Amino acid sequence: IMSYDKNNIFAKILRGEIPCKKIYENDYVLSFHDINPQKKIHALVIPKGEYIDLDDFNKKASDKEIAEFHKAVSHVSGLLGVTDKGYRVLSNIGSDGGQEVPHLHFHIFAGEKIGKMVA
Ligand code: AMP
Repeated sequence: IMSYDKNNIFAKILRGEIPCKKIYENDYVLSFHDINPQKKIHALVIPKGEYIDLDDFNKKASDKEIAEFHKAVSHVSGLLGVTDKGYRVLSNIGSDGGQEVPHLHFHIFAGEKIGKMVA
């Protein structure tokens, strides 16, 4: 069982130690643009709590944190103006999932046809 790494890049963004292109923030979540966008729009949504990945979050987070995290996806999609045309939400989990940053995040891809479901 892995423990949360407080020095991961998203923890540093949450502490304000490094900047981000912020889209939205509330008491529970932060959303910002991915630094290396894979599609015309590539946003990230992260919980403020220390959760390694979606599995860790689902097991440990409060119902309120889980609800707020999910609601934030739709709020951010609205702010990005992509609700009607659609978008893709993706979360990589662990080594086989291809996760690079060990703080839970949803990717939001939008702004063009996203294409093949899995590369
Ligand atoms: P994953 O492979 O699911 O862990 O995705 C990590 C994502 O974080 C990648 O899409 C990176 O481009 C993105 N990323 C890494 N560092 C930063 C940063 N400082 N600001 C914004 N996005 C970042």
